[in-house]
Amino acid sequence: MKKRNQPDTDFRKEYSWSEASAPQERYETTDGCTIVVLANNVPGLAKLFQRLNREFFADQLPNCTIQIGAIFSASRWEASVPYAHEGHADVQRQVITLGRNHFFFRKWSRKAHNEWIRVTLLHEMIHIQVALIHGEIGHGKHFRSELRRLGRLGEKWTADQIRYYRKI
Ligand SMILES: [Zn+2]
Repeated sequence: MKKRNQPDTDFRKEYSWSEASAPQERYETTDGCTIVVLANNVPGLAKLFQRLNREFFADQLPNCTIQIGAIFSASRWEASVPYAHEGHADVQRQVITLGRNHFFFRKWSRKAHNEWIRVTLLHEMIHIQVALIHGEIGHGKHFRSELRRLGRLGEKWTADQIRYYRKI
């Protein structure tokens, strides 16, 4: 089993709150979400992406921009999916958005927050991976197979998601 290497950074402190009051950009994605960008220059997130890319994807993912934003789903059905607002992967733009909520509401410990970032980032990175290799969008068989692969590498959180996405 791989040793967990938690990032030491507190990303919440690095986030510039002055930027949050002045949304930078609002756009629609090809899968029908609306994204309001709040910050795209959080130090550390790009580095974390690169580290995870190396560790889990043999550096094969394109270098994505990691941003924090508000993610609005198009359909009511999608809005009912627990993971839908946590993050979003935009394959065309090569952008991963982390949902703003956990940056605003600081109910969690730094450790819990960093774990959320890590899990959400990996989830979205799998979306990029299966879209580029298999053309699969959503949580289909290739997505779940990647979850299982990460599970074998010691990522225990994948078990819940495998169970969840098998049902829907
Ligand atoms: Zn997903």
